[in-house]
Amino acid sequence: MIRDYFRVLIVDLATGKGKVSTVPGRDEVAGGSGLGALLFTKFAKADGPWDDPEQPLIFAIGPLTGYFPLMSKTVAAFKSPYHDQYAESHAGGRSALALRFADLDALVLTGQAPRPSALVVGSRHLELKDVHYLRGLDVQESGKLLRRMFKGSGHRSILRIGPAGEQKCAMAGINVDTYRHFGRLGGGGALGAKNLKAIAIIGDGSFPLMEGKDYPKLFEAVYKKLTATDMMQKYHNLGTPVNVAVLNELKAMPWRNLQATTDPNVSGITGERFAETALLRNAACAGCPVGCIHIGFSREKFQADYRYFYRQVSYDHEPIFATGSMLGVTDCFAVLDIIDVVEQLGLDVMSTGVALAWATEALEKGVVTEKETLLPLKFGQNRVYEEAVRHLAFGVNDFYRLLGQGTLKAAAHYGGADFACVLGQEMAGYATGEVYFASQALGLRHSHLDSAGYSYDQKHKDKEVGKAVDFLMADEASRAFLTSMVACLFARGVYNEELLAECLKVVGYGALADTIDAVSRNIQKLRWQTRLATGFNPASVSIPKRFTEVTTWKGKVDGEFLAELKNAYARRLLELGAEAPAKVPNG
Ligand code: SF4
Repeated sequence: MIRDYFRVLIVDLATGKGKVSTVPGRDEVAGGSGLGALLFTKFAKADGPWDDPEQPLIFAIGPLTGYFPLMSKTVAAFKSPYHDQYAESHAGGRSALALRFADLDALVLTGQAPRPSALVVGSRHLELKDVHYLRGLDVQESGKLLRRMFKGSGHRSILRIGPAGEQKCAMAGINVDTYRHFGRLGGGGALGAKNLKAIAIIGDGSFPLMEGKDYPKLFEAVYKKLTATDMMQKYHNLGTPVNVAVLNELKAMPWRNLQATTDPNVSGITGERFAETALLRNAACAGCPVGCIHIGFSREKFQADYRYFYRQVSYDHEPIFATGSMLGVTDCFAVLDIIDVVEQLGLDVMSTGVALAWATEALEKGVVTEKETLLPLKFGQNRVYEEAVRHLAFGVNDFYRLLGQGTLKAAAHYGGADFACVLGQEMAGYATGEVYFASQALGLRHSHLDSAGYSYDQKHKDKEVGKAVDFLMADEASRAFLTSMVACLFARGVYNEELLAECLKVVGYGALADTIDAVSRNIQKLRWQTRLATGFNPASVSIPKRFTEVTTWKGKVDGEFLAELKNAYARRLLELGAEAPAKVPNG
């Protein structure tokens, strides 16, 4: 099973036929993020449009998937409907382990299915199934039917899109096993453009574990670190929503389209409030003993005498920020109701909340009217937002169709770019200061997890541009290696370089273990060169004025420092892009 090449299934959706190919490069790109970029360079037309049927949609796992806990992510790589450039999106759930059991390091989809279809792949199975009857169904309804159609519960992973993905909306995500998502940068639109409603990965094979005592001994040590120390406790206990109160206290929580960074009404949406009143249970990605997924409930009275219809809804810091503080909604059940609608329609919750926050302020300021919004959007009005989410998912008029392509696209048409909370894409739930704003605006995925800019802001008051940029570049390289291992980034404190080297050695990837630094930098370079080749120009990124109006624990954001930081970071990325090409194998 340990192989120094990648075993990749390439499926042409136009014909429904596939072939398994061996792709060299384990020692150069490792897997996950590195493998996604490598396959993209092989299969994509860098300058072709994102919805050209030949553009690939890639799913890749890492060398430690299935061997160690929390190696739980799958990396999706594709040309994004959001910015028409190279994009990566990561999701947990069962997809990574299912791919491992299907004996695949990656799945590459090219072409377009002739009819609305579901793709089924396993270790000995490939089928493109006509599922036109699922068209238009929401994520929950289609999930129920797909689970009945494709047996193998436990070893099976089901990826699906909702109506937003079918509309090719740039804010549509891919739902993975109900509670996880390839959320950002429009993966759902990319799947919709391929006429695929769903992918079922059937983990119907098996793989041997390492013989001898070294592997079980190391596994146990890792497992203990994850479960018997307090390193992962916060994720299990309150989960990421623990951050809501902390960031609010720090003046780093975005409120009402980032018009404020703290609010006394936070108590209705803190992690503590959710856990005490709305939490039903915890869940976990396959192979994870931490279980950070927190599931609450949303209920609706359908009859007198206290008869309720209810749905289980997962929540995290980011969905709470996007549909709670950003929209001025301060009741945890009202937040869960909005998240539920977003989930069912298959939108990315962060992009949706931030876009609707901009639309609300645009309406308040008269930049748009109710003729465009069709609704009296108002901060705090959760029921109105539920309706607005539907309008966005279905693209009911020009305004919502444009907004669904990105807040700045709508602002370019209607005005209001100054207060669009966009940093490469709609912001994440951290208003920590200049370093974070520059890091999301220029990060490869425009994700708060590309590098720890949000943490740097919380620890440094100095304004040394060079020092901050050095930190962002180095931190990004080490995270690129972690995401090439497909480690859950919550475990980054546990899986340091030394432990990763031990894990790689024990499963038989000694060469990779000995070259982590060089491979990390190679992957970082490969990803950036791939992104730049698809048209990204870091020097042309501008950060909207709203981010300079923010007050954090450090005081008012320093616009000059922010601009210098952004320019210096952009220069470094362009220098990296201009270096000799990243090392990739021939063949
Ligand atoms: S910590 Fe959470 S997100 Fe990470 S693998 Fe475990 S359950 Fe999944």
